Amino acid sequence: MITLQDCQQRDATDPLRPLRELFTLPTGLIYLDGNSLGAMPKAAAARAAQVVSQEWGQGLIRSWNSAGWLSLPQRLGDKIAPLIGAGPGEVLVTDSTSINLYKVLSAALSLAHEDAPQRRVVLSERSNFPTDLYIAQSLCQERGYRLQLVEPDDILAALTAEVAVLMLTHVNYRTGAMHDMAALTRSAHAAGAIVVWDLAHSAGAVPVDLSGAQADYAVGCGYKYLNGGPGAPAFVWVNPKHVDRFWQPLAGWWGHAAPFEFTPDYRPAAGSQRYLCGTQAVLSLSLLECGLDIFEEAQSLGGMAALRAKSLALTDLFIALMEQRCAGHGLGLATPRDHARRGSQVALTLARSATASAAFATVQALAQRGVIGDYRAGDGGQHQDILRFGFTPLYIAFEDVWHAVEQLRQVLDSGEWKQERFNQKHAVT
Ligand SMILES: *Cc1c(COP(=O)(O)O)cnc(C)c1O
Repeated sequence: MITLQDCQQRDATDPLRPLRELFTLPTGLIYLDGNSLGAMPKAAAARAAQVVSQEWGQGLIRSWNSAGWLSLPQRLGDKIAPLIGAGPGEVLVTDSTSINLYKVLSAALSLAHEDAPQRRVVLSERSNFPTDLYIAQSLCQERGYRLQLVEPDDILAALTAEVAVLMLTHVNYRTGAMHDMAALTRSAHAAGAIVVWDLAHSAGAVPVDLSGAQADYAVGCGYKYLNGGPGAPAFVWVNPKHVDRFWQPLAGWWGHAAPFEFTPDYRPAAGSQRYLCGTQAVLSLSLLECGLDIFEEAQSLGGMAALRAKSLALTDLFIALMEQRCAGHGLGLATPRDHARRGSQVALTLARSATASAAFATVQALAQRGVIGDYRAGDGGQHQDILRFGFTPLYIAFEDVWHAVEQLRQVLDSGEWKQERFNQKHAVT
């Protein structure tokens, strides 16, 4: 039996414990939704004030140079690079994940077309995050490709001679299941396909090695595990061997080789810079830097390896406590138990009753009790309703896991989730 004292003991010996102090976390709240919107670095408030009052207010246009605004996409990219196995100058922070995916998928299709024009399929996973599938649908329609969606276990078999690009999200947003990036990239290459990885639920949460896997293209999100703030810019990575081969389709002036020559003809910059489009969101970029600086602090405490070890310990603890204390309520585990296949979240299933989603109501009741997780609706078929709990190892404590499961137990034991108020969409949180 695991006790509250065991959890407190683990916090007392946790080498990453000091990092929690770098975040603002509301008192009395247990925040298990950092996989959707990361918590606020304490430094962000002062940084925002500085950028607004000093850099904008006083510096005005001079700040593009004097405050380093121009090089923010590269500077921040270099801070993300070690988290995802990329080299200096290879990663850019810019635009949103959806927009960056449009750029890289388009470039990947151009690359595939040059080498093998007869390949007309983009292959992805049916339960990929919808925006990824929508962007792929749009591009396929535009360029005459077919989007083929399969279940995760069927990916290898679907890598036929028709596939131009394999586009996958490394860690699934619903279940937290993680793909073997190196193995799938190898299989796709052996089958003649280009690979695009979405790292939205990986960057800052699990170690990633894009170079080691010899991946082709990647994008990822700034406001989840990187704690960049609401709507923070995303990142884009292109394998250096491909980067100069094609334009990306949003050929704006920031991606031009000489933007300040104001020439009428587009000439792409060499290297990753061509993946920029137009003027960047300086305030949002500046706030994201506060999140990335915390990873630099984490470096001296063991870096991503230590964060990964703690993340697995937290999710293992949550699963064990859930099984120990919430038995008999029909909770199921949608996240793989195998460490090699698990991201940094735990997804639970809870069967739907005839009239209501027990998963939805339970998430609402938990929020009322100060435990924030979230709910993702099932599709009425193979994918069930899910309660999602994200465990950001930078700021979640072992004791938080204890209390979260204790509140879950009380919600289920008391049956309070059945109350009308927890079953109305948008009623509580
Ligand atoms: C969160 C997430 C996104 C977000 O895309 P936006 O452009 O920021 O809205 C995209 N893809 C995946 C897989 C995600 O998890």
